[in-house]
Amino acid sequence: MRDSCQQFIDGQWRASDGGRDLDVVDPYRETVIAKLPAGNARDVDEAVRAAREALPAWRRLSGEARGRYLEGLADGLAERHAALCQTISLNGGKPLAESQLDVDDAIACYRYYADLARQLDARQGEPSAQPVAGVQIRRYFDPVGVVGLITPWNFPLVTAAWKIAPALAAGCCIVFKPSEVVPMPEQAIADIAQAIDLPRGVLNLVNGDGRGIGEALTQHTGIDKISFTGSNPTGETVMRVAATGIRNVSLELGGKSPIIVTEDADIAQAASLVMNGIFANAGQICSATSRLLVHQAVAEDLYAALSRHIDALVMGDPLDEATTLGPLVSDKQRTTVDRYLAFAKDEGLIPVREASHREIPRQGFFVAPTLFRDVPVESRLWREEIFGPVLCARQFASDDEAVAVANDSDYGLAASVVSGGHERASAIARHLTAGSIWTNIDQVAPPQAAWGGGKKSGIGRELGPEGLAAYQELKQVMAPA
Ligand code: NAD
Repeated sequence: MRDSCQQFIDGQWRASDGGRDLDVVDPYRETVIAKLPAGNARDVDEAVRAAREALPAWRRLSGEARGRYLEGLADGLAERHAALCQTISLNGGKPLAESQLDVDDAIACYRYYADLARQLDARQGEPSAQPVAGVQIRRYFDPVGVVGLITPWNFPLVTAAWKIAPALAAGCCIVFKPSEVVPMPEQAIADIAQAIDLPRGVLNLVNGDGRGIGEALTQHTGIDKISFTGSNPTGETVMRVAATGIRNVSLELGGKSPIIVTEDADIAQAASLVMNGIFANAGQICSATSRLLVHQAVAEDLYAALSRHIDALVMGDPLDEATTLGPLVSDKQRTTVDRYLAFAKDEGLIPVREASHREIPRQGFFVAPTLFRDVPVESRLWREEIFGPVLCARQFASDDEAVAVANDSDYGLAASVVSGGHERASAIARHLTAGSIWTNIDQVAPPQAAWGGGKKSGIGRELGPEGLAAYQELKQVMAPA
């Protein structure tokens, strides 16, 4: 696997002459592990030009043939599985077991869209499901065109796969910009594209930060659609920029997701689901269930169980298999989370388990896992996305109250319900405003199930057939019946 970060444009690896090298940091050792030569507007322009040149042939290729390339990308990731897990943990700080999920889910995503690409051939020209007397309507699914894909650092291969796989399946050509914070794993995708002889120009990778290359990519009018995953402030900027030229945009943004535990829940199961919902990837998950709503009858039992679990978390080297809680991805992210812990002090929040309770490793961007109880709904910690291992809890007396408090949020990405009865959990889920809701199950995101949220969590859906539709223009051809 490549250990340097270059750009992949028009089928070739290229050094950037952008003149700026960004540091790529190991967040556990706090050392620079690579230099990321940042690209510039000229690189973006060349990548867009290559993608536009490749587009006519790629979109005419059968879905069957595009599916074979997608299988090739999945196979390539599978062959590099162990090395990729190491790279993700080294560069991103997540424990190895969590890096495995990143690789596995990415592979599953490429295979799923390989299937949908193959099915597309039979669907082209399908009659409309709504017949009209005297008119024959046939439906065709054209690709949107050249798409700019921008991803964050928290699940480097998965967030990329959720865009690259459906875009290629639909017949789009790509200019992909991974996060400058964790850019190393994604280099493998271009490596594999080259190894499987993906036609040149179909997939281009450019490197750099938002200011340098992200802006150049979103501003380029040769880009027909921008699909962005990241923070809300950047999402707003991207949406504003996409207005120029009326370009299509999909946004996967932040979250402040609730987890509701009813009084008939199995407390051991609930504790395990709550733990995974907030402390996996040190809380740096868009769908992290960072607001715990627990029925007052079982609150003390649950807090006690959570305290035991928190004490058992092993903070350390992400490459050590014993580690269950890694450092945050960067010094900047640690500073952000520390700032929220300072707000908590100012607000007088009550910690059940707090930062000072545990010694944190001296090296690495660690924040101790923290649980606050009885958090007021006006608290900044209750309302804002922290993106760290900080859980806020409060109690409720009725399901209606739990639903009302859960829905009282700017975000609507995900939610979780833990309850003794499936019907009760489903009834609660029915009233929650979120795109993905888990009832008595861990956070799962299979490629078959659409992903995305309402309110400030974004616009559009990834995964599932909807994820493919996001890269298609529906064309309807009408003729006399
Ligand atoms: P970020 O917004 O800082 O960066 C995301 C990407 O945008 C990076 O590649 C960055 O270089 C690029 N970028 C920055 N400024 C830009 C600009 N002006 N124009 C174009 N591109 C620009 O976000 P982050 O810190 O990398 O990621 C964390 C955020 O991502 C959290 O808010 C999290 O909730 C969200 N996220 C959402 C999902 C989801 O599915 N909804 C998934 C993962 C992460």
